[in-house]
Amino acid sequence: MRLVLLGPPGAGKGTQAQILVKAYDIPQLSTGDMLRAAIAAKTPLGLEAKAIVDRGDLVSDDIVSGIISERMDQPDCAKGFILDGFPRTIAQAEALTHMLDRKGLHLDAVIEIKADPDVLVERIINRAKESGGARADDNEDVLRKRLDVYTQQTAPLVNFYAERGLLKSVDGMAAIEEVTAAIKAAIDKS
Ligand code: ADP
Repeated sequence: MRLVLLGPPGAGKGTQAQILVKAYDIPQLSTGDMLRAAIAAKTPLGLEAKAIVDRGDLVSDDIVSGIISERMDQPDCAKGFILDGFPRTIAQAEALTHMLDRKGLHLDAVIEIKADPDVLVERIINRAKESGGARADDNEDVLRKRLDVYTQQTAPLVNFYAERGLLKSVDGMAAIEEVTAAIKAAIDKS
């Protein structure tokens, strides 16, 4: 099964992805995690991405499309995967369509986790406190920037996938287990 999780920062994509990994036995491919690992390891990609990620902007479509395409070729992705944080722009969505076509694959569903922006600011500020500032981009100014970037560049993907008959929307403001149940119900119908 090949899924995309779509939703603003703090909507719970990562939390739900981890639950779905166990439920469906397929890996989570998180571009955010991959970029943070590259930054921590100070690889050439990490050095290039650090300033961009820290200020809440998007790294280039070509870079993230390339890392995702390579990751999909790993053996653990043979049964499917959950994309978390990719695609984030229309150009990335088009790149994804082409890379899946080339590999002879297709998406089963795109799950939009809907969330109220005001609640998200609170959630992420709390996440930052709990994690002791583990993420340099989890502060209020950068978060507002990430929410703006989401509205401008990523939200258009909702229509993009609705037009292609792939979109399933769930309420991300419900309790974690309820969101999971709604996602599973949507997947079973797809
Ligand atoms: P969020 O909590 O905002 O969903 P992520 O962990 O998915 O955060 O991503 C953190 C940062 O990594 C983003 O703000 C952006 O700088 C970069 N990033 C992650 N995925 C992408 C992508 N698909 N395209 C461009 N930049 C990305």
